[in-house]
Amino acid sequence: MHEMSLVAGVMRILEEQATSQDFRTVKAVFLEVGALSHADPEAMRFAFEAQKPGTIAADARLEIIESPGQAWCLECSDAVTISRRGDPCPRCGGYKLTVTAGDDLRVRELEVE
Ligand SMILES: [Zn+2]
Repeated sequence: MHEMSLVAGVMRILEEQATSQDFRTVKAVFLEVGALSHADPEAMRFAFEAQKPGTIAADARLEIIESPGQAWCLECSDAVTISRRGDPCPRCGGYKLTVTAGDDLRVRELEVE
């Protein structure tokens, strides 16, 4: 389950931010998970709960914001929304797509104390 290492990366970001912005407790983490990021929100939640004890996020809740996948279709010359990597263009059914958004994972906001 690679979500474990993704969450470990999030935990590192939290620790770094705590040092640079001088806070000690994280109350909530708003994590943007792209539909094409290969990260399963449920597995992310599970990994977060498993890793938070003993960290600054020990009592934090995880809010997952799912962002849609977007791609540029060469055939349509237009931006389209796709829900999965490898999906065809919803408009023309073609596969000449370049993913432009929704393939990443980032900490959008933190609620801290
Ligand atoms: Zn198309």
